[in-house]
Amino acid sequence: MDGTYIEREGAANAPFYLPQGDECDLFAAAHANTLPVLLKGPTGCGKTRFVAHMAARLGRPLYTVACHDDLSAADLIGRYLLKGGETVWVDGPLTRAVREGAICYLDEVVEARKDVTVVLHPLTDDRRILPIDRTGEELEAAPGFMLVASYNPGYQNILKTLKPSTRQRFVALDFDFPAAAEEERIVAQESGLDPARCKPLVRLAGKLRGLKGQDLEEGVSTRLVVYTATLIAQGMPVERAIRAAMVEPLTDDEDIKRGLLDLVTAVFG
Ligand code: ADP
Repeated sequence: MDGTYIEREGAANAPFYLPQGDECDLFAAAHANTLPVLLKGPTGCGKTRFVAHMAARLGRPLYTVACHDDLSAADLIGRYLLKGGETVWVDGPLTRAVREGAICYLDEVVEARKDVTVVLHPLTDDRRILPIDRTGEELEAAPGFMLVASYNPGYQNILKTLKPSTRQRFVALDFDFPAAAEEERIVAQESGLDPARCKPLVRLAGKLRGLKGQDLEEGVSTRLVVYTATLIAQGMPVERAIRAAMVEPLTDDEDIKRGLLDLVTAVFG
């Protein structure tokens, strides 16, 4: 398949996404060549928004699945359900995406149960097929189908990591929090808060991220900075908004909280 329909449909309505590098080109090239893509990066740094943006630009429907430790292959593929006394087959999101030539985004794929990876393998190689054992079907992915998965390498959990045999089936893109100038633009755009008032929030986020690994497991996400700015734009006092959206979500430890609030005073005091 060549990439000729790239940006033909939906581009104008694509949700706002500020690129950090060449990730849009890479994603489009992968899509045009039916390559699956793996997005690596911390939570709240823009991965989901990026996929939504690219799906709209490429004019493909998008099925997003938030993976969790109980998610099984049947949840993705589908199952027989009782409807009005009859047993009917209902496609899961992955099967629908395969039939329609849509993009299927498996968010935090490492969380899912092991049988999920088995399903993904024949879809991520040349065959691009989805065997459905229950119905005996073997679906060939329609043109335009693309598998996208994300995971957060920051969670140091040996049990929950992608096996090389799985990860080596994907083109991988490394995501991180945007640089300060870009993050200011994103926060202003998303929250409606004046850019000059977003600047110190982003500076504070940078300082909080510096504590990752010492006091904090995860740095503050762009999502939380957007929440903080949104509360401020709604008229909440700055310190209250920061406490609610940039401090409390990060830790339950009172000592660490006090340390974080000292940082807030240093930036805003
Ligand atoms: P992830 O999927 O990495 O956990 P999201 O894509 O949900 O994170 O991003 C969280 C929020 O941060 C988005 O809803 C959006 O408001 C904002 N955001 C982060 N990065 C960007 C970006 N590059 N362009 C636009 N918005 C962004």
